[in-house]
Amino acid sequence: MKRSFKINDLVRENVNRLKPYSSARDEFTAIDEEMIFLDANENPFENGVNRYPDPQQNKVKQELARQKKAKTSQILLGNGSDEVLDLIFRAFCEPKIDNVITLPPTYGMYKVLANVNDVEEREVLLTSNFQPNVEEIFEKADENTKIIFLCSPNNPTGNSFSEVAVTEILQRFAGLVVIDEAYIDFSEENSWLEKLDEFPNLVVTQTLSKAYGLAGIRLGICYASEEIIRILNKIKPPYNINELTQQKALERLEDVDAVKSEIAHLLGQRELLDEELSKISYVEEVYPSDANFILAKVDDATARYKQLLEQGIVIRNRTTQPLCENTLRFTVGTAMENEKLLTALKNLEVEAVNHKNQ
Ligand SMILES: *Cc1c(COP(=O)(O)O)cnc(C)c1O
Repeated sequence: MKRSFKINDLVRENVNRLKPYSSARDEFTAIDEEMIFLDANENPFENGVNRYPDPQQNKVKQELARQKKAKTSQILLGNGSDEVLDLIFRAFCEPKIDNVITLPPTYGMYKVLANVNDVEEREVLLTSNFQPNVEEIFEKADENTKIIFLCSPNNPTGNSFSEVAVTEILQRFAGLVVIDEAYIDFSEENSWLEKLDEFPNLVVTQTLSKAYGLAGIRLGICYASEEIIRILNKIKPPYNINELTQQKALERLEDVDAVKSEIAHLLGQRELLDEELSKISYVEEVYPSDANFILAKVDDATARYKQLLEQGIVIRNRTTQPLCENTLRFTVGTAMENEKLLTALKNLEVEAVNHKNQ
């Protein structure tokens, strides 16, 4: 049965009740440069980072809002997507009572965060073509299911989820639907961000860790309705995004051309890798990718993984993941790195033949 979406039915009672910590910088921000700040017990000697960072990260949010056509009040920033996802668990899932649904094979953090927060995780395998099994999702969901996690493009399979399936989930489910778009910048599909005003239960997460090339600064982004963002803001640590991260993120966001050209380069390399991997005798299948990695099925993933490692090339062995038996995940690197990878893979081909001939 379809229940309607009511945010107050979803949020945990303690979160509803709590009064957030009010930091010195929440209570007072600079009106002019000449002000004297003796309110936060900072060291007054300037070194670039002696002051607490903006707890609301207004400059970064304004730039994101402009680029993504969202309101700043629809944005929450976290110390990586991982913090964003953790905040969502903590705001909405009552430990030991509530549950969430994930769709393996997928990103491992949803399960880890469920376990950390003592929230039951229910798994509904993707179909054989790596799409959500909508009927089974609704069979597994009950009145305590608070969140369904969709990863699109999905890690490690690389494909995007069908618009029809995702729309049906958004329409039928009365809890939150979190769509993790860590790889959206490598995809030709539209972001679900465009549908934020249409679906009150939609939460979209993105990150600067992949296409933007800033995995080291840890900046994850959450877009959702103003009321969802207001709740997450209540429980976030006041200074969760440090000053250096805010500066670096802003700098990079303003350099749209550099980001675009790197993405274009990686997409070209992805196509090349796809073609060349398909030619290797022991590669049985190369799955189409909307991300900056490619999943491929080989004869013996664990053996191939070890052989590559011996040549100093680290890839990801996904063979233990459901539906991913004997698969390897290759991140798209620079042209030179990919060439070395392909040479190494081709040499293994020769090696295998030599063994047989001996
Ligand atoms: C890499 C990745 C992220 C990024 O997480 P950060 O904490 O922002 O670095 C998020 N989701 C998926 C599916 C990923 O593969």
